[in-house]
Amino acid sequence: MKSLRFLALEESLRRKAIEPLSVNNTPEEFGKYVFNKMQMRRYLSSEAYESILQSIEKGTRISRKIADQIALGMKAWAIENGATHYTHWFQPLNEASAEKHDTFFEPDRNGIVIERFSGEKLVQQEPDASSFPSGGMRSTFEARGYTAWDPSSPAFILGKTLCIPSVFVSYNGEALDFKMPLLRSLSVIDKAATEVCNLFYKNVHKVNVTFGWEQEYFLVDEALYFARPDLILTGRTLIGHPSAKDQQLEDHYFASIPERVKAFMIDLEIEAWRLGIPLKTRHNEVSPNQFECASIFEEANLANDHNILLMDIMRKIAERHHFKVLLHEKPFAGINGSGKHCNWSLMASNGINLLSPGNNSLSNLRFLTFVAIVIKAVYEYNDLLKATVASLGNEHRLGGNEAPPNIISVFLGNTISAIFQEIETKIGKNHLTVSEKKALTLDIGKIPEILLDNTDRNRTSPFAFTGNRFEFRAVGSSANPAASLIALNTAVAAKMYEFVHIVKSLRKEGIKKEEAILRTIQTFYTSSKNILFDGNGYTDEWKEEAKKRGLSVTNSAVEALSAYINNKNIHLLNEMGILKHHEVEARYEIRLEYYVKKLQIESRVLGNLIDNHIIPTALYYQQRLLDIVHKHIQIFKDETELELHKKLLSELNKHINELYKLKTDMEEARKRGNQSENIRIRAKIYSEEVKPYMDKIRYHADKIEMMVDNQDWPLPKYRELLFIR
Ligand code: ADP
Ligand code: MG
Repeated sequence: MKSLRFLALEESLRRKAIEPLSVNNTPEEFGKYVFNKMQMRRYLSSEAYESILQSIEKGTRISRKIADQIALGMKAWAIENGATHYTHWFQPLNEASAEKHDTFFEPDRNGIVIERFSGEKLVQQEPDASSFPSGGMRSTFEARGYTAWDPSSPAFILGKTLCIPSVFVSYNGEALDFKMPLLRSLSVIDKAATEVCNLFYKNVHKVNVTFGWEQEYFLVDEALYFARPDLILTGRTLIGHPSAKDQQLEDHYFASIPERVKAFMIDLEIEAWRLGIPLKTRHNEVSPNQFECASIFEEANLANDHNILLMDIMRKIAERHHFKVLLHEKPFAGINGSGKHCNWSLMASNGINLLSPGNNSLSNLRFLTFVAIVIKAVYEYNDLLKATVASLGNEHRLGGNEAPPNIISVFLGNTISAIFQEIETKIGKNHLTVSEKKALTLDIGKIPEILLDNTDRNRTSPFAFTGNRFEFRAVGSSANPAASLIALNTAVAAKMYEFVHIVKSLRKEGIKKEEAILRTIQTFYTSSKNILFDGNGYTDEWKEEAKKRGLSVTNSAVEALSAYINNKNIHLLNEMGILKHHEVEARYEIRLEYYVKKLQIESRVLGNLIDNHIIPTALYYQQRLLDIVHKHIQIFKDETELELHKKLLSELNKHINELYKLKTDMEEARKRGNQSENIRIRAKIYSEEVKPYMDKIRYHADKIEMMVDNQDWPLPKYRELLFIR
């Protein structure tokens, strides 16, 4: 009988590219399944339409009466577009989106089916959501969380379901999701940034965060995927000897996209466009089978929803093409993993990108102000930012000489750094001399021209200035980016208030505005320049240096996560009205729970693979070798020519015994971890005592893979998984 591996290989070889969806005109498809402003205009009364706009722009409440009207309009639109069900679509704390579908149609008293969807249903729902993670905030016997409509992100149709973007909160108002605190952080930074803006422009009344993500992912053939229990159950390969050729030649990055993949990408683009996701680029990434897509930046709450939605539809569309999407941060050892670059900036209501230099010295002063604020925020809260990206999956990636290193630092590039240095040295405690001031103003006025020729780009920096935005590159590919956005927005908002406060105090001392601002920039820069680093983040020297500078250097996700609950960070989130003390603790513990549960699953799956796949295969091969040895001796009565056989046998023995021992020790370590009721202790044991076994075990399994007959190996090998034709 053929093994699953060979059946899967045959199946994967038979595959041809599937004809992509045919559409006449892609731009016309954009937003086809979105209840966007155009549709609202058509389906809503002008009163209801205005009310939604007000709510989007100013966060005003929508009355119950208007909500009823909106529900009617939304339902009519949805049913006309083929929807039969509706759901509140929300983002619980488990890195996915959740839905609970209800039908629009109900029989009335006479058994006649009618459509029902009221304002009440639109605004609020009570999913039976007792099994979503809540970190002990919602004891299960009173599992009453509810979802509430977020009017600022438009409803959309997915399949046959009207999805209504929502927040998920407990009855006491505690946030149980990512969206709620994200919205709070956006509102906080809006107010703070507007105050900073008003130092420069009086006409700014709102500031939006803009967010553009780049999503990396792997594709593998579905048949091969199903022949790998580790991929099915953990999303990554737990064993597998590296392919002789993988990414050394960097040929995948520039290669043309395989036809099957291209067809998938075209479909993904069409489906994304229909859902209003402005997908823009598609290309190969460094590793074989690794790809990336990016969307054009949008208002951050919407962009974040779009990223979560994209990850969801990717999986569905991949199935149509007989692929599986791997969003895991490190699906294959030895080759690059996947991240999610988060491009972040601020857009004022007068249309100015606040992180973009302007064309005169005032606007460049504004530019430097915002850059200085971000630098200080990242400096003071580098540990919090790091905590937001810490996870079991991302632990493999960060610090692995491919993604950004595990130390958060800010890259500015030579030009901007030079300007800050100038500000630092030229502005003393005393007022500037007239000539100094002139020179500086001149320099500041020249920023855009200098920036234009500024080609320095640092690909390894975790937090890089890229001309008119910052790019946070440490986020994992599978993560909900909101966790990082929340921390960043909040930290930046806090530093904005501090900035305005200092400027105002200086003004009270009679110092002119421009100089007060310059002095504050100087203070900010001087006190936070320790976060700046333009060099190679992978060197040991940097690690040493970073430690001296007081930056968080730990490689352990569990340790990094503990930054969530240090006083400084709890104080920040609490003070700014984002999350209360116990909400932060709950989040921290949920993240630890996930770490432990995922590692527990990985460790069990690995144990099973060792017991049921690797050791039996090795023993079978040994048996065949012994057979040869035995027969050889019988026939030739001579052992001299059996050296190779004996060597193989003893090598195999060594690895089998070692494997079995390590696997048993790992089980013991798990038991030690499981004994602890306290999640913090459990996570520590899992991370320090269980996890190290994973690589040690893998080492022997991979050695055995290279020794036994290729025909006998039960799992698709790296070279088979990694090169889609
Ligand atoms: P690169 O690979 O060089 O980083 P990409 O084109 O892949 O460039 O991605 C750039 C991302 O940055 C896109 O998502 C883009 O929309 C986003 N971006 C550009 N300007 C801004 C901005 N002002 N605010 C937020 N994101 C932005
Ligand atoms: Mg990028």
